[in-house]
Amino acid sequence: MSRDLPAALRERLLVHEQEPLGPRTTLGVGGPAAWVIEPRSRQELLLAVGELGRAGMPFRVLGHGSNLLVSDAGVSDVVIHTRALRHVYHHGEVEHALRCEAGAPLSRLVSVALEVGLTGAEVLIGIPGTVGGAVAGNSGGREGAIGDLLSEVTLVESDGTARAVPCSPADFGYRRSPFKGRVVVDAVVQLAPAPKPRIQARMREILQRKSATQPLSWPSAGCMFRNPAAGPSGRLIEQAGCKGLAVGGARVSERHANFVVTSPGVLASDVLALVEKVRAAVRSHAGVELDLEVECWGQGSAAAGAEAS
Ligand SMILES: Cc1cc2nc3c(=O)[nH]c(=O)nc-3n(C[C@H](O)[C@H](O)[C@H](O)COP(=O)(O)OP(=O)(O)OC[C@H]3O[C@@H](n4cnc5c(N)ncnc54)[C@H](O)[C@@H]3O)c2cc1C
Repeated sequence: MSRDLPAALRERLLVHEQEPLGPRTTLGVGGPAAWVIEPRSRQELLLAVGELGRAGMPFRVLGHGSNLLVSDAGVSDVVIHTRALRHVYHHGEVEHALRCEAGAPLSRLVSVALEVGLTGAEVLIGIPGTVGGAVAGNSGGREGAIGDLLSEVTLVESDGTARAVPCSPADFGYRRSPFKGRVVVDAVVQLAPAPKPRIQARMREILQRKSATQPLSWPSAGCMFRNPAAGPSGRLIEQAGCKGLAVGGARVSERHANFVVTSPGVLASDVLALVEKVRAAVRSHAGVELDLEVECWGQGSAAAGAEAS
């Protein structure tokens, strides 16, 4: 990008130039962003979006980077990283609800809910993302997804103003959200009171199942492919004989075939080449086309799947 950032952003916000994105993602791969802006408050996030909107500069929003594959060349857009916006409020503003800032880790939402004796959020345990990323992708698992819990989401409009949008479970589908492509500032999660031992027991049960089936000690971006109508992608990939298949530092996990895990020195191009090999194997074995669940950012990544706008 040849244009410079608006002066108001360079002078007032925390800005990194030519900042590597790999370390800001769980896969750990990818080149730099022209600029990474880290708002330290809701007001700074509104300022960033408003100024970029006025300047006509494209930008992307980064949460925990746990559902992203950034290309080796990086991205030319501005990236707004929400990691400093991590508050979870329990004011009693809405009964049995928590208001969570976009950058709040889901683990924090789960632990605050337990602290105040509210059930529902346990379904998000073990998902390493932020509330904003989860709202954008309706993250969840077989027990439920975040869209089942949301009653309101606050968005930033392109002029930098905030707008609260009511929502209900009917607005969401499997990894589908009406807030994809928007900028989430915070979200209200509606829960229900329950005895703490019962909440803890459910948390333990979900976590034990995840640790038994997922390669949690390796860097990954979670499930690489969406589940097609034909069944779970992990099963299709395993049946196609791809467990353990590797390209460079990227390997199909032996524990869960829908996870691609990475070793030090891996390149985004290794992950993309492996993705293509897996897709070809499943296509030839089962006649099924796998679509990426992980989002690709940057040049050269569009071949493997949808490049985010
Ligand atoms: C070990 C492991 C286990 C996982 N398990 C699961 C699971 O069980 N279920 C599941 O659904 N996912 C799972 N994931 C994937 C991932 O953790 C989730 O999709 C997560 O919610 C993504 O959140 P994030 O903050 O990391 O988003 P990012 O990866 O940073 O971004 C993903 C998308 O969300 C957008 N986004 C981020 N923040 C905002 C915001 N404030 N406003 C608008 N858009 C925003 C980004 O622009 C991007 O389009 C797993 C990942 C790993 C590594």
